[in-house]
This record gives sequence, C-alpha cells and structure tokens, in this order.
Amino acid sequence: ATPTAILVGSGRAAQLGVVIRGPEVLELTRSLDTIVLDKTGTITTGRMSLDTAASAGIGSESALQGRSALPTIDPLMLAGALEALSEHPVAAAITAAAHKRAKIGGSRLPGVEGFVNHEGRGVTGRVTGTASEPGSAREVAVGRASWIAERGIALPGHLSNALEAAESTGATGVVVAVNGRAAAVLAVRDTVRASSATAIAELRTLGIRPILLTGDNARAAAHVAGQVGIDPADVRAEVLPADKRDVVAGLQASGAVVGMVGDGVNDAAALAQAGTRGLGLAMGSGTDAAIEAADITLVRADLDAVVAAVRVSRATLRIIK
Ligand code: ADP
Ligand code: MG
Repeated sequence: ATPTAILVGSGRAAQLGVVIRGPEVLELTRSLDTIVLDKTGTITTGRMSLDTAASAGIGSESALQGRSALPTIDPLMLAGALEALSEHPVAAAITAAAHKRAKIGGSRLPGVEGFVNHEGRGVTGRVTGTASEPGSAREVAVGRASWIAERGIALPGHLSNALEAAESTGATGVVVAVNGRAAAVLAVRDTVRASSATAIAELRTLGIRPILLTGDNARAAAHVAGQVGIDPADVRAEVLPADKRDVVAGLQASGAVVGMVGDGVNDAAALAQAGTRGLGLAMGSGTDAAIEAADITLVRADLDAVVAAVRVSRATLRIIK
C-alpha cells in the first residue's frame, strides 16, 4: 500500500464519518471476517425509557408492610434515588421516570447513603428518609434478576412472570429489592437503530460474520438478534464486563480476525483486546473510555459506518495492488 493511497483511503473514510487512528488500520479493516457488536447503544440507540406497561409491583410496598412499620413508598422512587448516582442507560431510564413521578406528586427523590455500583449487575445503597417520613431508611438493591437471586432474594411468582414477559419482548427487566425483599420489576427498553438490520445484512454479504455480545439478559438479546438478523447461535448474552474481553480473545484464538463495535465503559477492554489482532470500533456517541480504547471512531454512531469502513478499505487496497 502506497502512502498516498492510504492517505486517500483515510480521507475518503473520514468523509463517511469513519475516523481511523493510523495508516495500518485500513489494511486491518480489509481483513476483518468477524464483527462483534455490543447491543445497548450500538445495535440499539441506548436511550432507554421505562416501559410502564411492562413494569410490575410499582406503587405498592405491600410485600414489605408486614416486616416494618414504614409507610408505603413507591419502589420506583427508591430505585430512582439510587440510580441517580449511576451512569448506566438502565439507570438513566429509571431516574427519569422517578423524577417525573416525584414532580407529579409534588415531592423530591429521597437521599442516598453508602451507594455502591456493581458493574454489569446493578446498584445498592441505603435510601434515607424523606421530609414526610424522616428516619425511614431502607436498604435498596436494583439490578439484574440473577444477581438479586445471588443475594438470597427470591422473586415471587407474579414478579417473575412480569420479568419473563417483559424480557421476551426485548426489554431489560431489573428487580427492585427493599430491605431484602423483591418489591418490583422495572422493564426498560430502547429501540433498534433504523439502519442496524440493513447494515448487518450488508456485513454478511461482505463475508463478515456478525456476533452479538451483551451483558443484558438472554431473552432480550435473542429478541434484538432476531430483529437485525443475527444467528441465534451467535448471541452471547449475560456476559459480565470483565468477560467481554475473553469472548473476543476466544474468537481470536479460533483464528478469527475480529472487529468489535461498542460504546460503553464496559466495552473498553473488549475493544482494546480486538485491537491487538484486529480492530476496536467505537460509536461516536459512546463513552470516552470506549473511544480511547478503539482504533476507529464511527462519528455518526451508526452501523452503516462499519460497512462503509470495510468497503473503503477494500476499494483502497484494490487500487494500490
Ligand atoms: P450492556 O452489555 O448491555 O451494556 P452491562 O454489562 O452494563 O450491559 O449490564 C448488564 C445488566 O446488568 C443490565 O442489562 C442490567 O440488567 C444490569 N445492570 C447494570 N447496571 C445497572 C444499574 N445501574 N441498574 C440496574 N441494573 C443494572
Ligand atoms: Mg453498550
């Protein structure tokens, strides 16, 4: 590859919203045969909102009444108070809905002590009393059902049904536990980006195998995979942030030249791993950590740009041969 051709190719890529880190990146892009796609914020928009139709148990703390003399408080408000301290897309949806409800009720979200973010799992903390009920602190956990179960908190039948129903339509279901008991299931969802399905189909025609990698639940992952045409056998769900990188390394070990597309803090290690023998691609809308870890930034935050990158790299290197 002549330096001039590479320069022209890089310039063409930049016009298409594909910013590449260095001259070697184009050659690598050309040789990709596998593209691992994060779900939330990559295949989907990442702008989640509370799906009120699918949420269950909100507005009643009846399950807890037997155990304490505390007045009823909406589990959504307790969850929103905690999630206000998290930057996860799930947290943003819950916080927004709680703020809205607080506003309607003329109140404010309660305070929080001892907040802990459990990456890829959920959040915990002590939600302190409000002005109307001082001294009524509660231990609250909000997160994925499997993690809540690991904490020894069982899900009553109606909540587990609600969780399953929500997840099978592609939602992310999280459990709100208050003082060691499951109080509500909150379903949040976002939408698949308009161009994702066609972009993934085009990757396939370019001979590239798409794989979906997510920390989200298997049912939601399968639903999204179905919407965009990813093979059910190529879905890796409920993968903890620390293990995402191992999924990429495993594919590399089996001989694949992997491009990983992601946006989150929790994708950074996998993006960097992809970059050791392939490429990390970050959504331009993504976190700084993802962008710093990647070789390519997709300015438009659109999977079309991945297709454009592969096409430009192949065209450039065809000319210079
Ligand atoms: P993704 O791969 O979709 O970015 P993560 O690894 O960040 O997912 O999180 C995996 C799952 O853990 C989420 O789908 C959600 O169920 C749960 N989770 C993570 N962070 C939070 C949070 N702040 N509040 C509630 N649930 C969370
Ligand atoms: Mg993401």
